[in-house]
Amino acid sequence: MEKKAFVTKELVEEIVKDYPTPFHIYDERGIRENARALKEAFAWNKGYKEFFAVKATPNPFLIDILREYGCGCDCSSLTELMLSHAMGIPGEDIMFSSNDTPAEEFALAARIGATINLDDITHIDFLEKTLGYLPKTLSCRYNPGGYFSLGTDIMDNPGDAKYGFTTEQMFEGYRILKEKGVENFGIHAFLASNTVTNEYYPTLAKQLFGLAVQLKEQTGANIRFINLSGGIGIPYRPDQTPNDIRAIGDSVRKVYEEILVPAGMGDVAIYTELGRFMMGPYGHLVTRVIHQKHTHKEYLGVDACAVNLMRPAMYGAYHHITVLGREEEPCAQKYDVTGSLCENNDKFAIDRMLPRVEIGDYLVIHDTGAHGFAMGYNYNGKLKSAELLLHEDGSVQLIRRAETPRDYFATFDGFDIYGKMFPGRS
Ligand SMILES: *Cc1c(COP(=O)(O)O)cnc(C)c1O
Repeated sequence: MEKKAFVTKELVEEIVKDYPTPFHIYDERGIRENARALKEAFAWNKGYKEFFAVKATPNPFLIDILREYGCGCDCSSLTELMLSHAMGIPGEDIMFSSNDTPAEEFALAARIGATINLDDITHIDFLEKTLGYLPKTLSCRYNPGGYFSLGTDIMDNPGDAKYGFTTEQMFEGYRILKEKGVENFGIHAFLASNTVTNEYYPTLAKQLFGLAVQLKEQTGANIRFINLSGGIGIPYRPDQTPNDIRAIGDSVRKVYEEILVPAGMGDVAIYTELGRFMMGPYGHLVTRVIHQKHTHKEYLGVDACAVNLMRPAMYGAYHHITVLGREEEPCAQKYDVTGSLCENNDKFAIDRMLPRVEIGDYLVIHDTGAHGFAMGYNYNGKLKSAELLLHEDGSVQLIRRAETPRDYFATFDGFDIYGKMFPGRS
């Protein structure tokens, strides 16, 4: 599928008068259309809820849009819990799916009424000691080990992943929790990441629904929800076919009617914790070409770097690039597109065919709406960019300002670099 930017050169030229590059910009229309489609795809399930994975895009302005479609928040850390609670999200709409969890985070999750999803059987004792009691509702994260396959395709390797309870531990854990007075149970699993196929959720659902029936039969646990978690992917590459969320919802329904309904479990709620699918395609990193270098290769030097988007450097991930204003020109030149970090892996693209670029051109780096800005760091003392929201009426709102040197130096208590550099302005 052809990948088109949701901003034009003309719009970017207007935006940079107020907000210089680089910046992340999000497309409100795309976010809304997708959230509506997800809601409709699972409308057959009475208790269905999407808990947006806050770590993907932790910005309250964006999360507020999703809330209009009934979404809650999936948190994995203290600050994500704080953000969700401060936004006024009620406890029942907050899932806490963390691992290697510090005691203070369990304590905050319990205090704000979030549903706690345990990552390990030893966390039962840890949680009980931390809180002095166990919540009435608890969920456990499942990891069957081995490989997760669709037909002959290996999708991922849960056996090598640090998360979750083994099958035996699920049964033992439920028994212990039941003995200790827990009344309502959930099952959670995240077995493959960024799947671009309509088969992942239905295959996972089949496995979890079967487990749920056994857990109920063997431990008597009252299973209230099954959390299919994240993992629905997006087509980063132009040759990939996007997932069809309606087809995914329908296939999960078939499995539900095959396995859960006959077992008398037709009232179990389906939860999801999607991050990438909710926001990924609806974010662009916009950056300007500031240098061209001709040495052993052709380089485009841009004003963004891996600090703004880490996925290419970290995973070698493909992110499509559009040169604004040159959409119709042939991709006739091969470039490495680089940032300025003192790290040779700070490249947004390697050997990428693009139209012939000139200094001053704006590049759109696609699909940065999830795990983009959020993964940023401050290496080389680089500062994080602004985040902007493109509204449906075409207006642009600043939803996070860019960092300044003052932010960067703020944690040196008692050593005021900013004040020494700019006396009178501190
Ligand atoms: C990261 C994560 C998600 C979201 O994953 P996506 O690939 O963005 O959909 C959901 N749940 C948990 C527990 C996660 O760690």
